Amino acid sequence: MQYRAPRGTADLLPADQKYWRYIESKALGLCRTYGFGRLDTPVFENAGLFLRSVGEGTDIVEKETYTFEDRGGEWMSLRPEGTAPVCRAYLEHGMQNRPQPVRLHYFCPVFRYERPQAGRYREHHQFGVEVIGDADPSVDAEVIEMGWAFMASLGLSGLSLVVNSIGDPDCRPAYIDQLKEHYSRHSERLCSDCRTRLERNPLRLLDCKQPGCQAMGSEAPRSSECLCDACQEHWDQLQAYLAIIGIPYRVDHRLVRGLDYYTRTVFEIQPAEEGGQSTICGGGRYDGLVEQIGGKATPGIGFATGMERMVLNLKRQEVDVPDEPAPRYLVASTGQEARNAALDIAAKMRGRGVGAILGGAGRSLRGQLRQANSLGVDYVVIVGEDELASNQVTLRNMLEGGQEPMPVDRLLGGLEGRRD
Ligand code: ATP
Ligand code: MG
Repeated sequence: MQYRAPRGTADLLPADQKYWRYIESKALGLCRTYGFGRLDTPVFENAGLFLRSVGEGTDIVEKETYTFEDRGGEWMSLRPEGTAPVCRAYLEHGMQNRPQPVRLHYFCPVFRYERPQAGRYREHHQFGVEVIGDADPSVDAEVIEMGWAFMASLGLSGLSLVVNSIGDPDCRPAYIDQLKEHYSRHSERLCSDCRTRLERNPLRLLDCKQPGCQAMGSEAPRSSECLCDACQEHWDQLQAYLAIIGIPYRVDHRLVRGLDYYTRTVFEIQPAEEGGQSTICGGGRYDGLVEQIGGKATPGIGFATGMERMVLNLKRQEVDVPDEPAPRYLVASTGQEARNAALDIAAKMRGRGVGAILGGAGRSLRGQLRQANSLGVDYVVIVGEDELASNQVTLRNMLEGGQEPMPVDRLLGGLEGRRD
């Protein structure tokens, strides 16, 4: 074969669509009940947007973005994450002048040049939400609760919610110094990525998946113990709110997030299955982001979920996902005259909102019945040459096996008011 889907990408085949539609419908229901409007942004943006917001020292910007110079000489990046574009659109469309906070959600493909593995792709898809314009910890609790409720609505079980506070630009620098000091003491034990992180993005040292680095992480100083007064108060209040809502969570001092713009609250929802590819929902507060991309200081918080990883978990947990509705009728015909009539009858059925597939041209009646069987339709409308003269068809019930002749008008009349 000459061409295949590029490494790290996947075709989404009809048989898998039901999982995606299921997740989407749950997500849309969630956004309706929580009051989140939808926003769609372009697949690519000026590269600077991500460079400045996600952070130059982050894995994403350093080695994962798909960045290219377009024919007009402008540097563009395929979207490596959803939050910065939402904040860009928030500013561009004057949403700071609307009543705050603004609640938005998105579904989008995301591109990262990663090493492909199960649950890790170069093109993946995210559903995410953002609340922009409110710094109160009750909003953090609301967003976390929303992520948790989303997972429950999908029917996933055995998940854990992990929460941490990573401080803000006031208290983080001192914490980072402590962290660097801790890791520098045994820098020879660090993996090569972490040696770079020690210089460029020390917070990320904490979530390295290598066993040696992990061991050092568990001994590392904790960000939640180095918070300034304002961050401490926010953190205490958030935990009090989470207790009020009554969702179970665990504080993990090694939870940081991959992007530079996070402040204070960070959280993840992880399935029981261990491994670096397992997080299905990740989020946090980003109070500095809007300002970083040129707006006035505006707080924000959100989460993003990975569609592919949710599908993986739905399959793994054998969650019962409803089948996609399919046409219930096949219209079979033999001979040219009959085919003309079949085409017309099928069109009229669909016009009444009833799903109908035309049997394959050139196949025998038996062949078309076999086709009906393999498609799993409930009924076959047989249009035969001799019946045509009297405007009759035969309706065959594929579930029960019987069949009866009837006028076309009666067939169509019986469909009135029925919607598949
Ligand atoms: P990880 O630590 O797994 O690399 P991340 O911190 O880079 O995740 P986010 O940027 O928070 O992930 O993205 C939100 C969600 O998108 C993740 O929780 C995960 O479910 C999903 N995700 C991230 N990267 C990928 C990928 N390469 N392939 C598939 N899903 C992904
Ligand atoms: Mg990543």
